[in-house]
Amino acid sequence: MTTARSWFLQKRPTKDIEDDNLVLREHELPPIKTGEFLMRTILLSLDASNRIWMSDMESYLPPVALGAPMRGMVLGEVMQSQHPDFPVGGLVWGLETWSDYAISNGDGLMLMPPAQDLDLAKIFGVLAIAGPTAYIGLHDIGRIKPGDTVVVTAAAGAVGMVTGQLAKIHGCRTIGVAGGKDKCQQLVEQYGYDHAIDYKSENVLERLRALAPEGIDVHFENVGGEQLDAALAHMKNGGAVVLCGLIASYSSSEPVPGPYNFRNVILRRLRIEGYICFDYTRTSYPAMQANFVQWVREGRLHFGLHEVAGLEKAVETCKLLYNGGNQGKLLVRIGPDPQ
Ligand code: NAP
Repeated sequence: MTTARSWFLQKRPTKDIEDDNLVLREHELPPIKTGEFLMRTILLSLDASNRIWMSDMESYLPPVALGAPMRGMVLGEVMQSQHPDFPVGGLVWGLETWSDYAISNGDGLMLMPPAQDLDLAKIFGVLAIAGPTAYIGLHDIGRIKPGDTVVVTAAAGAVGMVTGQLAKIHGCRTIGVAGGKDKCQQLVEQYGYDHAIDYKSENVLERLRALAPEGIDVHFENVGGEQLDAALAHMKNGGAVVLCGLIASYSSSEPVPGPYNFRNVILRRLRIEGYICFDYTRTSYPAMQANFVQWVREGRLHFGLHEVAGLEKAVETCKLLYNGGNQGKLLVRIGPDPQ
């Protein structure tokens, strides 16, 4: 028997995540059976979708049931195995729970591609969600071309920082929108954005008009609300709006108004398309991940990590995503890297 600690959902949030929405409890795991393995969690990725999974709003995955362990993207090590595809010592990543130990039959998990010479947290942060989400959004959905002007919101966050760099690698001109002077400085100095807009102190639409007088070719939306409206007002004819996320509305239990400039979709002949990165896990992930490993190895992709130690810190750390307190990809360290 193994004693595990897990966060259980005990009350759905109505607005912001509160401390009593989840509870950390010890529980016993039974011995593994044929077709199962026991994994120890090394890192838990905290992602904007966590707030959605805690609620009962319709989503691409069912809500986490009340009383069930909280769902999350994790990186772990196989400790015991009776599963032919997950040998002891293998590194696995995918959807599991906010736990230090878990038993799995492999559903939703994959073996991590070998990248032993690279920082494990960085490579997990890039490969698991942020990198593929940026890549699919820009290429499959936005269909970017060299020379395009690409605007990204929440540009200093996990998805946003990769999006800007991938667009630059593809020869685009990039404008990132983020909250605060420090994050805007990071956008230009660390993540290679051509320009940054601080939505907290600047008028986003006026700045977009000044920085991209010809208009926006591809707008990559992570936030929604006023930032989406500003972009809709300044799209080029035939432009594309990539609907990646709408984090500004995730903590709202009321219907969210807008976008108010929606008629521009007709006037400017826009294409708006949403997508879910997990739909591409089996098809596009392996090729994309090989590219990411290469780019990180060559130092072409900079990826800021915000790592907090301790499973017990997961709930308070998760809140940072919704108030802009995270300084890069948010991870909780639950155990050490393998020897
Ligand atoms: P993140 O960008 O690392 O962190 C979230 C950031 O969003 C915060 O740091 C904050 O940045 C900004 N933000 C939060 N609340 C805001 C508000 N009310 N108004 C304006 N900005 C706000 O998080 P992430 O996990 O990488 O997610 C980014 C987006 O990608 C989310 O919308 C998420 O849902 C989406 N996503 C989509 C997919 C998909 O498959 N479609 C997959 C992964 C993620 P500032 O400090 O700059 O305000």
